Amino acid sequence: MYKELEGRTVVITGASTGLGRAIAQRFGREKANVVINYFSKEESVESLIQEITEYGGHAVSLKGDVSKETDIRELICLAHDSFGSVDIMINNAGIENEVHSEDMTLENWRRVLDVNLTGAFLGCRESIGYMLNHGIKGRIINISSVHEQIPWPHFVHYATSKGGIKLMMETLALEFAPKGIRINNIAPGAIETPINAVKLADPDARAALEKMVPLGYIGKPDEIAAVAAWLSSDESSYVTGVTIFADGGMTKYPSFQGGNG
Ligand code: NAD
Repeated sequence: MYKELEGRTVVITGASTGLGRAIAQRFGREKANVVINYFSKEESVESLIQEITEYGGHAVSLKGDVSKETDIRELICLAHDSFGSVDIMINNAGIENEVHSEDMTLENWRRVLDVNLTGAFLGCRESIGYMLNHGIKGRIINISSVHEQIPWPHFVHYATSKGGIKLMMETLALEFAPKGIRINNIAPGAIETPINAVKLADPDARAALEKMVPLGYIGKPDEIAAVAAWLSSDESSYVTGVTIFADGGMTKYPSFQGGNG
């Protein structure tokens, strides 16, 4: 736990499920003020707010589409009106679907880029603007993916969006470091969440995926939330412009394990 996160205001997108939810719970345990953006699973937001409150934090929520400027602006306004600050922005919302590239429609391509990349950009832009106007040395975290580095056939839109987030983050980190705003990415590997629930429910697919992870298991959402808490804390004060791969070693060429190659 990080004492300095108590009373800080954190905005998290796509927070009703999966990693966003786990991050919101973690910040609840840190007794932070949590601003929850959600797009689906509206019925589960109330229990999340209740959990955060029971931990000693505070929470408000707003439905919105991260690819829409107005929705992101309203989210930042909600944070200001509810808690008087935006100290930490976590751009987590993301989507994916499998389709062979020659069959990918322009609509499908655009939607994934709009949500994953443009949504993260809008979250960065609006929170940076707020932080600059209020003299806040804030922290911004984008949830990218191992696919900001690993190519992924049948998911060209997704891999392109996550690759884009890498240079977006690095560029913004450089641009706003003089203002004391730290911007970093977390790149999860295979983590047990709704995004890959169908794949992980198939024992063969699960085993194949586990083989790609040197640590040998599918990660838990809490293991990503722990990285988000650290990157938001003062313990990471000299860290900006980097991607932390929380992937059990997936990006370390597991096929070479045991001396292969
Ligand atoms: P998830 O499907 O549970 O979470 C994604 C969330 O984004 C959902 O709550 C969804 O409602 C929300 N969302 C979708 N479109 C939105 C929009 N237009 N506006 C606002 N919210 C929207 O899956 P997850 O695994 O928790 O995914 C969270 C992030 O982690 C994503 O960016 C994903 O790409 C990334 N990621 C996940 C894994 C993994 O293995 N689970 C691995 C690498 C990266």
